[in-house]
Amino acid sequence: MMKKARSRRNDHFVTGVLHDQLHATFGYTAFRGVQADVIARVMAGARTLAVMPTGAGKSLCYQLPAVMLPGTCIVISPLIALMQDQVRAADAVGIRAATLTSADDNRADTMARFRAGDLDLLYVAPERAATPDFRDLLRQGKVTLFAIDEAHCVSEWGHDFRPDYRLLAPLMDAFPDVPRLALTATADAHTRGDILAQLGIPVAGMIVSGFDRPNICYAIAPRDNGTKQIADVIRATPGAGIVYARSRDATERLAAALAITGRPVRPYHAWLEAEVRRRHQAEFVASEDMVMVATIAFGMGIDKPDVRFVIHAGLPKSIEAYYQETGRAGRDGDPAIAQMFWGAEDFVRARQWLADVEPRRLPGERARLAALGALVDTGGCRRAVLLRHFGETPPDMCGNCDNCLIPPPTLAATELAQKLLSAVYRTGQNYGLGHIERVLTGQADDRVVQQQHDRLSVFGIVGSDEAPLLKPVARALMVRDALRTTAHGGLMLGPEARAILKGEQAVAVQLPPARPRRGRARSGDHPPDPIFDALRACRRALADAAGVPPYVIFHDATLRDMAQIRPRSLRDMALVSGVGERKLEAYGEAFLAVLKQF
Ligand SMILES: [Zn+2]
Repeated sequence: MMKKARSRRNDHFVTGVLHDQLHATFGYTAFRGVQADVIARVMAGARTLAVMPTGAGKSLCYQLPAVMLPGTCIVISPLIALMQDQVRAADAVGIRAATLTSADDNRADTMARFRAGDLDLLYVAPERAATPDFRDLLRQGKVTLFAIDEAHCVSEWGHDFRPDYRLLAPLMDAFPDVPRLALTATADAHTRGDILAQLGIPVAGMIVSGFDRPNICYAIAPRDNGTKQIADVIRATPGAGIVYARSRDATERLAAALAITGRPVRPYHAWLEAEVRRRHQAEFVASEDMVMVATIAFGMGIDKPDVRFVIHAGLPKSIEAYYQETGRAGRDGDPAIAQMFWGAEDFVRARQWLADVEPRRLPGERARLAALGALVDTGGCRRAVLLRHFGETPPDMCGNCDNCLIPPPTLAATELAQKLLSAVYRTGQNYGLGHIERVLTGQADDRVVQQQHDRLSVFGIVGSDEAPLLKPVARALMVRDALRTTAHGGLMLGPEARAILKGEQAVAVQLPPARPRRGRARSGDHPPDPIFDALRACRRALADAAGVPPYVIFHDATLRDMAQIRPRSLRDMALVSGVGERKLEAYGEAFLAVLKQF
């Protein structure tokens, strides 16, 4: 069968069969991104490494071949929680799947099903896969494919190296005719090379999908009244979401404050009892509208596709971390929002940390911070900055970030920046922005008079028209390290001040747009739709009855498609994207009944 797939005569036939199966099982009419390329290689028996961003549909790349080819696909996965999610989703579309882990008490039954050829997918952890017992088991059945999920765990260069992954190559070598598919969402060039070498995959077998997540709308704004800003985003964005905060305290405080949104809110951080953490996570996964306020401890191993927003209450650690954390939004491909609120003090704090960094790591850490500065400070496309950071050459405008949707007025502010820096210098690099503003705008209050700052040449040199710009200019100067704060909260010059004062470097600031940025223009917004709401209620009831999260029944996009097409029969229902044969049979009538009410 595999050899045949290689001949040209059969290419069209195979493509047609693949599409039929895609539609029958998953209810989709087309592959996304590089899925088709990856699956074509797998079906042809070739060894492949697929580097695909989160949400690009990685698991479909082995699930579909597993359904079509005789025998069982062995899936190596590092987390039991992830495996259980996958099995639940596979069950829902009628794929025969099971896990073989220490948490399962039906292991003998699962092994019997494997021997009998009664499983499409068998999920195991790497430590079990590496045992002689497991190798013996595999000889007693038919293995059609090895799929290694989170394949970067095989590399010491990767961020979560798992030594057990090194034992997978010998296992797979014992079955030389079985194709291998390694999958990862995050891998730099170094790690990719290592994965290829460790798992015996040829360089030509690497398929890299772009880093772009077009359905995520990126928005970044200075923090003003952080809690209110966050609450506003939550109020305007239906669906479940994550708010990342810096510390345990910030997490607890924000979670309490965000209750005013009327949404269920839970905190999540490493200091909560394990049982509480587990409960909060489970509630979040099953919820359609919960807000999880969490430290970055939250997110690993969560496979919730319908997260509609990720909000950063402060500056993330790096662009890589930002990409990974925002990447948890919109994995179902539906519109989602990534909103960051940052403050100049975030940069101040980050620079203070740099003081403790080993000297050899210092240049890298500085570059990391500068890249973040460029992302928050740009008046151009956010997506373009992100993608360029990952080595891609994106178009200048994406049309789905804050700056593309409503371009912020950009103002040349070099002269004003020079005035501000001069005033900081002449007052002795000891005063906060309020005092500096009063000096520059000529307000002789007691303190100004007492310090004789009304006699300085910088007194009153900023007119009332420019005065409102002092705050944004100060913020821009702090981002680029031309201004720093003293231990007492006063302002002092930073290393980048000199070039600006000498006129060698220009300064521009982005002003907040006149209208609020959030509005109907956002692709994340959907107008209220009673049919969609009724379908959601039906989905919730079915999910509760089956004890699964709602997205396992149908994704939001499927319900929206259904609300628009309004099928009147099971045959029409089968045309809705995301409705495969199994789900049509299981849920079709229930949703038709809802639609009949409209
Ligand atoms: Zn853009």
